[in-house]
Amino acid sequence: MNDDQLLRYSRHILLPQLGIDGQERIVGARVLVIGAGGLGSPAAYYLASAGVGTLVLADGDVVDLTNLQRQILHTTDAIGRPKAESGRDTLARINPDCRVVPLSERLSGARLDEEVAMADVVLDCCDNFATRHAVNRACVAARKPLVSGAGIRFDGQVAVFDLRQADGPCYNCLFPEGQESEEVRCAVMGVFAPLTGIVGSVQAAEALKLLADIGVPLSGRLLLLDGLSMEWREIRVPRDPACPVCSVRPAKAA
Ligand SMILES: [Zn+2]
Repeated sequence: MNDDQLLRYSRHILLPQLGIDGQERIVGARVLVIGAGGLGSPAAYYLASAGVGTLVLADGDVVDLTNLQRQILHTTDAIGRPKAESGRDTLARINPDCRVVPLSERLSGARLDEEVAMADVVLDCCDNFATRHAVNRACVAARKPLVSGAGIRFDGQVAVFDLRQADGPCYNCLFPEGQESEEVRCAVMGVFAPLTGIVGSVQAAEALKLLADIGVPLSGRLLLLDGLSMEWREIRVPRDPACPVCSVRPAKAA
């Protein structure tokens, strides 16, 4: 780190758990954020301001007036622009040291696998089950830690699936594909603006902890937030030994 970086990150470096070593790991990291909306906005803000070296911001949508109530990366004059590019411009103003790679596409297939394989940590900040499961499969295949968040109405949830650990659960262990309750979208159900900020900020915190290798990660645990009563609950998430995504199925007896 140069002198400017030592100053910029001095309040991190002062933390004995982080110090220069932890901050250097953050500065050297590449993080993939999938979705530059309600969750991805606060998550990307903190990752960029905290000094993540390379932040890949993937979103195939353009900024819409209805997004601005909570998607704080974007401003009124960005309406109609791709979210990934609008986000890149905002983050560049916060921290020019953070190299933001805007991907104005809905990552899937080989492109998704490629980006996940290059990342040190992946944040799922998307708004639909199909993408969540695709991101999970890619993280299982590449054994990358996945920080998953969701928010709708006044309800938030956040969990870490550390797929580097042999006994760690994956997203599909918790929410098996095809067994989801009906997809609930912000467009129909509404969402409380700061709820997405709280969940996205927890995602950023967990990602930075994973990168710096400090503390106790939210791994194998699901945090549930009721924003109306402002109560958190924690549920332990065991690995499903029969999970078709993360388990090697036992060979059939001959
Ligand atoms: Zn699994």
